[in-house]
Amino acid sequence: MTRNPTRSIRVGSATLGGGQPIVVQSMCATKTTDVAASVQQVRRLAEAGAGVIRLAVDNADDAQALVAIRAQTQANLSVDLQENYQVVTDVAPWVDKIRYNPGHLYHHQRNRPWQDKVRFLVEVAAKHDCALRVGVNCGSVDPSQRDRFAHDDWLRPMLESALEHCELLDQLGFVRYCVSLKDSDPQRVVAVNRHFAAQRPDVPLHLGVTEAGMPPEGILKTQAAFEQLIPAGIGDTIRVSLTLPVQRKHEEIEAGQQILAEIAAGRRVGPAPVAAGLNIISCPSCARVQNQAFIELAEQVRAMTRYAAHQPITIAVMGCRVNGPGETDHADLGLWCGPTSVNLKRAGARLGAFSYDEILARLKDELDRLIAEREAAGEH
Ligand code: SF4
Repeated sequence: MTRNPTRSIRVGSATLGGGQPIVVQSMCATKTTDVAASVQQVRRLAEAGAGVIRLAVDNADDAQALVAIRAQTQANLSVDLQENYQVVTDVAPWVDKIRYNPGHLYHHQRNRPWQDKVRFLVEVAAKHDCALRVGVNCGSVDPSQRDRFAHDDWLRPMLESALEHCELLDQLGFVRYCVSLKDSDPQRVVAVNRHFAAQRPDVPLHLGVTEAGMPPEGILKTQAAFEQLIPAGIGDTIRVSLTLPVQRKHEEIEAGQQILAEIAAGRRVGPAPVAAGLNIISCPSCARVQNQAFIELAEQVRAMTRYAAHQPITIAVMGCRVNGPGETDHADLGLWCGPTSVNLKRAGARLGAFSYDEILARLKDELDRLIAEREAAGEH
């Protein structure tokens, strides 16, 4: 397949871009502080063929655990800084790549310009031989970019955010970076990545449909996006973000390999998997999940809502209360999970918190009400 002429960037022993084979990667869903479980997950992902494995680090305890994890694996490790960009000094010596989210740079030291924060990240990354990823995500877009555009313009805030970070990194003379632009809607992933690649064909792209959900739907949604991008030369590394129990996380790698093989063989799923109808988006979980019951809940939501399969309704199920509120904003019905309760939201308005035992019945009530209202309004 023709590939865009991206620059190559080294991530440990892996190379992204520069015409190299597309690297399949994944992320640990274990608590980073659970060193034994994290090492086991890293090993399992590496055995499955992961070229890069990401871990989430948010504080000094996570950073300390990362030192112990590094000592037990040769895998190419990437770290997700989440909100706390300053922790980078503690983790960079132990990893090969650092992912930061432009939208999250505002959470700490609010008065410090984001440009200073990026400069700091670049200095640390260069000192410790790390690559960077500018990871733009639909649920946490840079607020200053969001404010520049119309409320319903989802594309330009994401695109401009990525482009301005590339420009700054270039000005700083740091070229060892890639970019990701992720959304839970496959067609949006296609659109924003096409726009980015048209303007910056030199920058390696990490492709992903965020919160694609459970297999097999999550795999089909992801393939629906990738099969429109990869044959057009767009994409140097991929992640398939699936809601899976911790012990099955390696299936993300198998799914990525399977999608690449399908695309190479010319087999297409087309837009059908994401055509109008009930759409359940759910996050892939990470170290932040506070109750593993989240995975089971996502499966229960899928089973309970089967009766509404033909309804054009989006239900979001998120694993934590940090990113959950933002990532459920655009869903018709949203759930995000805390340690002992699940928050329910309808069209962005919070309806309350319910126990794990109560939430399904409460969700069904809201779903029925929504369907009835739409039918009464003649929408369906
Ligand atoms: S919503 Fe929370 S638990 Fe789920 S992947 Fe995002 S940060 Fe992790």
